[in-house]
Amino acid sequence: MAKRVYLFNEGSKDDRDLLGGKGANLCEMTSMGLPVPYGFVITTPTCREFFEAGNKLPRHLQTEYNVAMKLVEEKMGGGFGDPENPLLFSVRSGAPVSMPGMMNTILNLGMNDVIAEGLPRKTNNPRFAYDSYRRFIQMFADVVLGVDGHQFEAELDSYKQAHGKTLDTDMEAEDWKAIVDIYKELVNFPQEPAVQLRQAIEAVFLSWNTPRAIVYREMHNIPETIGTAVCVQAMVFGNFGDTSGSGVAFTRNPSTGENEFFGEFLVNAAGEDVVAGIRTPEPISKLEQEMPAVYKELFETQQRLENHYSDMQDLEFTIQEGKFYMLQTRSGKRTGRAAVKIAVDMVTEGQIDEKEALMRVTPEHVESFLHPMVDPNAKRDVIASGLPASPGGATGKVVFSADEAVEVAADGTPVVLVRRETTPEDIHGMKVAQGILTELGGMTSHAAVVARGMGVCAITGCDALSIDYAKGMVTTADGVVFNRLDTITLDGSTGDVMLGDIPKTEASSSDDFQTLLSWADKYRRLKVRANAETPADAAKARELGAEGIGLCRTEHMFFEADRIDLMRAMILSDNKDERQGYIDQLYHFQKADMKALFEVMHDLPVTVRLLDPPLHEFLPHNEEDLQALAGRINKSADSIRESARQLAEVNPMLGFRGCRLSILYPEITQMQVEAIIAAAIEAAEDGHNPYPEIMIPLVINVREIRLITEIIERGILKAMHEKQISIPYKIGTMMETPRACLGAKRLAPAVEFMSFGTNDLTQMTYGFSRDDVGKFIPAYLEKKIVDKDPFVSLDQRAVGRLMKTAIKDSKSRKKGIKYGICGEHGGDPVSIQFCHEIGLDYVSCSPFRVPVARIAAAQANVGGDLPE
Ligand code: PEP
Ligand code: MG
Repeated sequence: MAKRVYLFNEGSKDDRDLLGGKGANLCEMTSMGLPVPYGFVITTPTCREFFEAGNKLPRHLQTEYNVAMKLVEEKMGGGFGDPENPLLFSVRSGAPVSMPGMMNTILNLGMNDVIAEGLPRKTNNPRFAYDSYRRFIQMFADVVLGVDGHQFEAELDSYKQAHGKTLDTDMEAEDWKAIVDIYKELVNFPQEPAVQLRQAIEAVFLSWNTPRAIVYREMHNIPETIGTAVCVQAMVFGNFGDTSGSGVAFTRNPSTGENEFFGEFLVNAAGEDVVAGIRTPEPISKLEQEMPAVYKELFETQQRLENHYSDMQDLEFTIQEGKFYMLQTRSGKRTGRAAVKIAVDMVTEGQIDEKEALMRVTPEHVESFLHPMVDPNAKRDVIASGLPASPGGATGKVVFSADEAVEVAADGTPVVLVRRETTPEDIHGMKVAQGILTELGGMTSHAAVVARGMGVCAITGCDALSIDYAKGMVTTADGVVFNRLDTITLDGSTGDVMLGDIPKTEASSSDDFQTLLSWADKYRRLKVRANAETPADAAKARELGAEGIGLCRTEHMFFEADRIDLMRAMILSDNKDERQGYIDQLYHFQKADMKALFEVMHDLPVTVRLLDPPLHEFLPHNEEDLQALAGRINKSADSIRESARQLAEVNPMLGFRGCRLSILYPEITQMQVEAIIAAAIEAAEDGHNPYPEIMIPLVINVREIRLITEIIERGILKAMHEKQISIPYKIGTMMETPRACLGAKRLAPAVEFMSFGTNDLTQMTYGFSRDDVGKFIPAYLEKKIVDKDPFVSLDQRAVGRLMKTAIKDSKSRKKGIKYGICGEHGGDPVSIQFCHEIGLDYVSCSPFRVPVARIAAAQANVGGDLPE
């Protein structure tokens, strides 16, 4: 039988999988000799056993933890349930990956009537005893018995009102005793400490499957099977009076990444008071003034921990009557800017190497360099200021609850979630909000930590706000009022709140960011290209590091206002001559557009895809537009209607599109090719180095490729002959149908590159229409029929298998083919990892995704664990 219970001196930081992150770090700190209140950890496999047995604790578990408990009692000098010398415990969850605020915690476990009586004899502090007791009842009721905490809050508020008390600190021992009596009326909880412990352990295991934990796991791709450990730790108390306190600290500034010790604390408060944001905490410098010896110990400890872990740490500490205790250390959540700065600084400091630095950065971190900030030059009338908890600028309509946020944001309306404070129950609203604004809470409150993690702009501790949820109204200290659905702007980098929509600048880079990206380029094998058609998008992509265009969707160029009518007239032509007339006109547009693109992409390859969509997509979709078009192109409305009727398809995604258009309308393809090559020649004449690659979409077999290649080569020869210049070019195909992948061996001799169009390939592998999948994929995800939306994250089992087959078979027939991907998956880090593994040469993604892809490609090559 595997050992299920580990004392804090029996594990280490390498035991994350077994003991959870929190448990492993408590063990590590214990073995480093830091002042950690003693305790034990129940392992994560025990959580799995619990679920497998139908939510029952294993038979011998109690015996095992009772033995551990005896040793904890000895070491801490007290007894669990001993009224003369009671030891109280915290029971916390701790999964192998951090899930802040997602799981349940019970504090002061072991408290009951007898102990509340006895504790003051030990502590000389009856107020503390009853305060702890009431906290315990409320937590136990909430977490174990499922009783809504608001009832307790309401009782406390009405007691305070009736007795003229405002703050918790106004409450005396007899007040808390009275509250305990009131609370005991509300719930029936076990007085026996051993029963409390068993029920608490069960509740922690059960909390692994609460809706909020499930949402968090889904958002962060945390596997359900890993389970949580349970940490049972002797309590120390920060609410013991004015020589006590609790705090949280970061070894570096989690917002900017500056190498400065950063933290907050509250005197005479329990740890949860700091985190919950019930009182706005003091900066850590205040601790230095008030308790210099404790501060020194804390400062030395944080340095030791950061050096030991070689990463920025997030610490929790408690001071009980002047004695310092460490309660937790973990790798600290940070903003994107901070993540990059810390990673680069730590390389300079010699703490980590460049490869490790790359592994410390997530796609969300990278994105924060790419997202808007409030324009520093814009006029700003600040109506209130709070703490700059998570940077960036956000504008949206004011909503006051998570549900309201989801409702209003459903049609794409940007929202700002305004709350007194946030709790894990608000996650779904925070996820859809552009910005989060809270009245209470510090830089480490739930709102701040979660928003930073999500990269959402947030301001916390904005105590100038008075929020009236019932009226849907906020009044600032200066009397400015704003209401539900009014538009406000937050500057999460300064903490300023403004009315209206204040202009924002495009996201800016930093030297550290560029350094990190240069390391990414050094360590990656996959090239990164962008999907772009316009010169502006291509220029942006190039600026962000794209090494070519992986997909230029030429049809996008024909949707522009000044050419759509020509395109339509061409489609509606009554005969070949008429069609050729329009095609000749389209040629000039196509050539000019392509030339501009080749100029921007000087020296780099540009993959141009031949026309892909069903032709009827270009035609007007309503009668009014149809009538207007008839006037403009000199055709009768009836004839247009009739053509549109003929072109309409039952299933256009699988209809007359892709290279099928080239087979039926070779003249369109020839025009496109002549224009592309003429444009490249003109660009070359102007001193540029163009590398056109012509790509045939949606093929099913080599006969299509052969026929179309003939047309393409005719066009190329004509263009080159006219100018008497030869330029390099390639002809390749998109791999978008399962048949093309399975027949890749036969396609190979006919192409120089294959680019996987995984949007269509996914659609055809699954038989899920790309346009209709939104209707049922949420249900599929919820019912766990699929783990991830296959249009977002590449399905490695089926689609990936087709890709692997295509690569292997085509390589067996012809060497030197280049392989790429240009579906949406080309910008998804997990998919990029897969593309690296199966040996693609490049990925192609949207321009703003390019830096994410560069880093993901490097991470794929460097290997190791990605940051959470
Ligand atoms: C694809 O199918 O993956 C692709 C890139 O082409 P499109 O999205 O234009 O169909
Ligand atoms: Mg496609």
